[in-house]
Amino acid sequence: MKRNYLLRILGAVLAAGIVYGAVRIPAAENSGGSARIKLYSEKQKGYIMADKINKTEAEWKQVLTPEQFQVLRKQGTERAFTGEYAHTKDKGIYKCAACGTDLFSSDAKFDSGTGWPSFWKSIAPENVASDTDSSLGMVRSEVHCSRCASHLGHVFDDGPKPTGLRYCINSISLKLEKSK
Ligand code: FE
Repeated sequence: MKRNYLLRILGAVLAAGIVYGAVRIPAAENSGGSARIKLYSEKQKGYIMADKINKTEAEWKQVLTPEQFQVLRKQGTERAFTGEYAHTKDKGIYKCAACGTDLFSSDAKFDSGTGWPSFWKSIAPENVASDTDSSLGMVRSEVHCSRCASHLGHVFDDGPKPTGLRYCINSISLKLEKSK
């Protein structure tokens, strides 16, 4: 009688452990920073595999300035005509200020007159991702770095040929690596 009772408790503990493990393990895999993605690398002149970057807010605050944190991690927008690259004509590659991923080439930069650096295409579709953003009473496409998910700006469909796109990007989200 007592043995049966103990076996039943043991069975319940084992079952709970299996259920806990089944629920917990996939969740842990999803939240880990180990997801691999394909990205274009200008340096390699081709595609590479890279780990996605998943930092906590506290970790981002350690590596970004407060101004960068507000735009890159909180979807803020720098004031027009105040950013470092609004009128830059230097040749090179604009990289993610948070993780260094290649995002835009100076070859696709144009003067949109908006006061923000503007590009008619990203360096590769894999490197810049977009989401619908319906804040501020407008429906816009938010764009962010595919590797670290940092906010870059928005993309509109009133850009120049050949794409007709206008990537309107915060200077503070970018770091220009000039061509030598
Ligand atoms: Fe990034």
